[in-house]
Amino acid sequence: MRAAGEAQRRNEARARAPRALDAVADEVADLVIRRYSTSFGLASRLLAGDVRVHVRNVYAMVRVADELVDAPRPDGDAGQQALLLDGMHADVCAALRTGHSANLVVHAFARTARHCGIGADLVDPFFASMQMDLERAEHDAASFAEYVYGSAEVVGLMCLKAFLVDEPDPQARYVQLSEGARRLGAAFQKVNFLRDLAQDHDHLGRTYFPDFDITSFDEHDRDRLLDDIDADLAAAAVAVVELPSSSRRAVAAAHALFAELAQRLRDTPPSVIRTQRVRVPGPRKAQIIAQAVAKGGNVTMTAATRGKVCVVGGGIAGLATAALLAQDGWDVELLEQHAELGGRAGSWSAEGFRFDTGPSWYLMPDVFEHFFALMGTSAAEQLDLRLLDPGYRVFFEGHEQPLEVSAVRAENVARFEALEPGAGQALEAYLDSADEAYAMAVDHFLYTSFEEFTSLASRRVLLKGRRLAPLLLKSLESFVAARFDDPRIRQVLGYPAVFLGSSPDRVPALYHLMSRMDLADGVLYPQGGFSTLVDAVAGLAREAGATLRTQVEVTAVLTEPPTRRGARATVRGVSCRDASGQERVVEADVVVGSCDLHHLETRMLPAELQTYPERWWARRDPGPGAVLVMLGVRGELPELAHHTMFFTRDWAANFDDVFDARQVPDPASSYVCRPSATDPSVAPQGHENLFVLVPVPADVALGHGGVDGSGDAAVEQVADAAVAQVAAWAGVPDLADRVVVRRTVGPADFAADLNAWSGGALGPGHVLTQSAFFRAGNASTKVDGLLYAGSSTIPGIGLPMCLISAELVLKRLRGDRSTGRVAAPITKEAAR
Ligand SMILES: Cc1cc2nc3c(=O)[nH]c(=O)nc-3n(C[C@H](O)[C@H](O)[C@H](O)COP(=O)(O)OP(=O)(O)OC[C@H]3O[C@@H](n4cnc5c(N)ncnc54)[C@H](O)[C@@H]3O)c2cc1C
Repeated sequence: MRAAGEAQRRNEARARAPRALDAVADEVADLVIRRYSTSFGLASRLLAGDVRVHVRNVYAMVRVADELVDAPRPDGDAGQQALLLDGMHADVCAALRTGHSANLVVHAFARTARHCGIGADLVDPFFASMQMDLERAEHDAASFAEYVYGSAEVVGLMCLKAFLVDEPDPQARYVQLSEGARRLGAAFQKVNFLRDLAQDHDHLGRTYFPDFDITSFDEHDRDRLLDDIDADLAAAAVAVVELPSSSRRAVAAAHALFAELAQRLRDTPPSVIRTQRVRVPGPRKAQIIAQAVAKGGNVTMTAATRGKVCVVGGGIAGLATAALLAQDGWDVELLEQHAELGGRAGSWSAEGFRFDTGPSWYLMPDVFEHFFALMGTSAAEQLDLRLLDPGYRVFFEGHEQPLEVSAVRAENVARFEALEPGAGQALEAYLDSADEAYAMAVDHFLYTSFEEFTSLASRRVLLKGRRLAPLLLKSLESFVAARFDDPRIRQVLGYPAVFLGSSPDRVPALYHLMSRMDLADGVLYPQGGFSTLVDAVAGLAREAGATLRTQVEVTAVLTEPPTRRGARATVRGVSCRDASGQERVVEADVVVGSCDLHHLETRMLPAELQTYPERWWARRDPGPGAVLVMLGVRGELPELAHHTMFFTRDWAANFDDVFDARQVPDPASSYVCRPSATDPSVAPQGHENLFVLVPVPADVALGHGGVDGSGDAAVEQVADAAVAQVAAWAGVPDLADRVVVRRTVGPADFAADLNAWSGGALGPGHVLTQSAFFRAGNASTKVDGLLYAGSSTIPGIGLPMCLISAELVLKRLRGDRSTGRVAAPITKEAAR
């Protein structure tokens, strides 16, 4: 029995072995393509299923042979190269007969060749051309034609065999389409000769084009060569449309990429072609490929198709950008200067307390839900969300009784009615209007980067024009005042302006849409705090394949100068410094700046490449600063809800101090979060966790905060006044005595820790002139491939807006100019 079992196992192992070797060989071929990612390799990612594997296997063999010829090992010479090439040729010929090779790239090729009918008639000319590279530095017309046939046209023919393998009569179709395949291969090769002119001549000592003298290369030469290339491309185009659907889009994309390169070469002066490699910028490449997909492809992208993206900053916007782009197939590397991710959504722990140092309101839950859906998951899967009831409590100066805002709309209607007769019905109308405004914002303003004004001015928006204009031109304050008299109600409805980094008299009435969130939808809290949101988004980014590096400070955005008159510079990557002080360069096709835009534009780019130079910022409003106070408190504090507001009577003067006079208001309105009301994990038993936020001017002169009162005097004074205010208004006279942990943060900390413009806590406020298309856009107008995400760009401030800003980057890279949301989920390539 035992012997029989052994034999069976051996037989099974034998049966498995060839399949395992085939699979490993296929993966090696895939790796070769990804490492030598060229436009040919990129487009091959659009091929369907097995065809893609076969084309990869062909192309990997071609690449390796090419490498043997072009890049000798340091200890090798031409004789050594010739030996290696001959050896590889012999391996390929043997593997064509046997189906096996110990060289995995050759093994993969042979498997494909035998399956698709690629024989020595194509393989031998290929190796003959490779051999020519070792023997000839220049060509005449005949040797050039022979070289191009062997090095490129037969590769086109090999791929054609793979494209047609499942056709009913592959041979007949091969005869029909082979001219097109040869011409396309020739066009690709000649474009590469032209763009690599300098490299081939100066480093390899080769000149491919016959009758060509690089020292006198002029416009006439350039146009003559490109006319020949265009003729090849035109002949190939006729065949592309005849290809089976499994390969048509990929070949069309490759054709389009090379046509674009040819056009760029034609627009480039010969002197520049002579010294620089002409490229198609990453975003444009992605657009071309996306257009090929849009024309009927249902395949998705992988890192090798899209290119490399470097994201600067690991706040929520950078993390969300990394997640979406990695999910969409980009090769993403994120660089964050600090050891912790999260940026403004940070956390701080001391003596058993864990404080969120930034956001505490989970607003616009549908935006989070959509983001998670794009990533193929849901908020419920990623977070443990709790509905707060009451949503929040408000203490008004001069009023004994606080107002509780409920999680239920009808209860809020009743509570407003109790404060002011008729206010209940007015609130119903106000919230209906808020719903409508929110829908309009989601459909037309939030998910667009306004690349096309027509998409904004779509008929639906124009039809609403009569309703929209007053919402943009009136202030939120006057909009509320026209509907409600009670000052407490006015404050509750005006306060959301602070979430937008401004005040009710400065933001447009359109933002009354915010009130639907707290008064109708209810307020949510992620159990474990907002760092769970940061962890979730970072986790999704990593799962999608992004690399997130911490303690790497980006010091400059690197660019390449324009290659032709009227063109823009192109991003090349960033230079950065790691924790050990080591400087390095990260090359990238696209850079997404998600740190404060002022810092990136004015500190990381030379003056001539700044879209938003200092003079632009001089005319802008940095939004509010903040003094933050984190308090660990002994005993319980039922006097405070999870969220509690303290509104001063002289509300307008308060805002004027912050935004106009730029002085600390006294008394100041403040906000207190008590997450320990909901979440026992944020404080030791028998203690409470308080986070106090006092809006102050965005002014670094106010100074830094510190632990246990060690901050600058102005910051500690604001903190003391806030603690005293909470103690007096909420009726906790011994509050200051019960404090066991205290840390403050001031505007200078925002500037030092986050490179925040002017020490601002939130970023440029949403006054009309800093909203929608008036806000800084998400792409540099001076550098191709340099994009922006985060609270300083569109759509604006707050976690949900930052998630949308990430989606806007995705849309821009996809060339999607619609005003709507991207369809969810973004699907990963099903099989590699
Ligand atoms: C006190 C406070 C309370 C808030 N409350 C809420 C709320 O309740 N709800 C809500 O939705 N929003 C709230 N917000 C707003 C929200 O937190 C922000 O809009 C959002 O977190 C900003 O994210 P971001 O990624 O754009 O920027 P940031 O979080 O600032 O991230 C930028 C990142 O870039 C990094 N960086 C900067 N320079 C470099 C460099 N040279 N190299 C590498 N990395 C660099 C920074 O270290 C940082 O990690 C609050 C903000 C604050 C400060």
